[in-house]
Amino acid sequence: MSDTLQKFMFEHSLVRGELVELSDAWSHVLARRRHPKAVSAMLGEMMAAAALLSANLKFNGTIIMQIHGDGPVKLLVVECDAALQLRATAKLADGAEIADDATLQQLVNLHGHGRFAITLDPDDKLPGQQPYQGIVALDGDSVSTVIENYMMRSEQLDTRLWLAADDKVARGLLLQKLPQDGGTATGTEDVDAWNRSVTLASTVSEEELLNTDIMTLLQRLYWEETVRVFEPRHPAFRCSCSRERVGNMLKMLGRDEVEDALNELGKLEIDCDFCGQHYGFDKVDCMQLFSTPTLADAVQPPGSQQH
Ligand SMILES: [Zn+2]
Repeated sequence: MSDTLQKFMFEHSLVRGELVELSDAWSHVLARRRHPKAVSAMLGEMMAAAALLSANLKFNGTIIMQIHGDGPVKLLVVECDAALQLRATAKLADGAEIADDATLQQLVNLHGHGRFAITLDPDDKLPGQQPYQGIVALDGDSVSTVIENYMMRSEQLDTRLWLAADDKVARGLLLQKLPQDGGTATGTEDVDAWNRSVTLASTVSEEELLNTDIMTLLQRLYWEETVRVFEPRHPAFRCSCSRERVGNMLKMLGRDEVEDALNELGKLEIDCDFCGQHYGFDKVDCMQLFSTPTLADAVQPPGSQQH
């Protein structure tokens, strides 16, 4: 069965919701690298959250969700594009020993310097345009709390998330209260729908979230409500790495650095952190790289060339 994201809306209210279930996409990430249980759970929860936020945004591009940790976990990254194609990776400190029940604070905010960042990278970027990035401190004991705080602070949107992941599935539920002045309000809204929907969702245990498919969950939670469901979407794993992108990265390192590495190693071997794809660049490949003009050369204004 393919992975599913289901949007829904409570009739006559300003509350919208989404449920997501990732097993196939998640299994691709787990197949690449096994992490300690607590790390894997966090990464899976972030993956579910990235799909939920991506489907929720009116934005044509890639959402990049990152946790920069200062403890045994150095980095967690999840990317999701507008077609709900996802990839994810985690980097641990060398020799990190991580207990199964390690908390978020112990994993990524041991000294209070951990950071959570969301980057929105539009597909149709203009030359020189920087992607939008919001960064916040890691306050909260769970991925869901950290994201809820982020959404409140940077988007001023009341958002609640319930997330869970194990070695088989990553599942998530998102509820969002639409702004009253968003132009959609008619004055006849069911104003209690937000509190009711959140209270009901809060009864779901992690165990239940891990073991219940999303349509059963929706039915079980909101059988007394009039819920409109939309056409389901299907997230999938896909890595956006390519030989060209790796080549561009090498170009950004600069000719001197690449030549030094070639002299030392004979050949550059690069493995994609997300999918494990291997890219090899020998001396001839690297010479070709630096003989083709870069975008930066092409847009450099006349008179500013470096000699
Ligand atoms: Zn890749």
